[in-house]
Amino acid sequence: MTTFKDLGLSEHILSTLAAQGFEVPTPIQAQAIPLVMAGNDLIGLAQTGTGKTAAFGLPMIEKMLASGKRPDPRNINALVLAPTRELVNQIASNLKDFVKKTPLKIGLVVGGASINKQSEQLSRGVDILVATPGRLLDLIARKAVTLTQARFLVLDEADQMLDLGFIHDLRKISKMVPKNRQTLLFSATMPKAIAELASEYLSNPVTVQVTPPGKAADKVEQYVHFVQGASQKTEILKKTLTENPDGRAMVSRAPSMVPKN
Ligand code: AMP
Repeated sequence: MTTFKDLGLSEHILSTLAAQGFEVPTPIQAQAIPLVMAGNDLIGLAQTGTGKTAAFGLPMIEKMLASGKRPDPRNINALVLAPTRELVNQIASNLKDFVKKTPLKIGLVVGGASINKQSEQLSRGVDILVATPGRLLDLIARKAVTLTQARFLVLDEADQMLDLGFIHDLRKISKMVPKNRQTLLFSATMPKAIAELASEYLSNPVTVQVTPPGKAADKVEQYVHFVQGASQKTEILKKTLTENPDGRAMVSRAPSMVPKN
């Protein structure tokens, strides 16, 4: 079985992980960490809950600690873009746990919170900035931060970012990050638009995948009702919809799964 030590992590990070109860790397961590440590651009097909924050966060942190380069005031070493406030908070909180007892600083910018406080946080520079695209652009426009020293760009939940209409923001931001950088893109699905995005922003990326495309998200509960005939289908459908008045529903007709004699 692969251990965190096998992945080339330093003693310091190994002890941080042990203190947090991380014993065994998840499949995305086992695959992605050595590739990112080796300097590859990466496409990770993985959902939230698979451990992908550590998969991109740990090797970035290792490389920053090894280089010892700290950002200038109002600059950053790495940018992590995510589609929602909740996700940004969750990623930043995980990264803060990973950089405990190191000099590295994690910054967080999201809409709906005080822009002045965020601006002040950036004034001394942060090593890893986790942001939603819109608020980041506001802060760049105010000259609270520039991205000219960023050596890593992570696009997390890229499919959701496209669904939420962030494509123009992503284009603007990617032009502000130096070309000579390492880019990591994570997405639960790989529609054509994401493949195009990847070919635009990543160079010779390696793809790692931990769930087959099309697998239902963990939050989706799946079950099967066996029915006697078409009329029972309607009955069961009505019952299911009545019993779940708060849920949203989509009904489609699937071909019969049981072969007829
Ligand atoms: P993520 O997919 O990065 O949001 O991670 C989901 C959750 O799993 C987070 O709460 C992590 O702290 C936790 N986690 C990630 N990797 C591991 C691991 N190797 N062992 C135990 N917990 C983990």
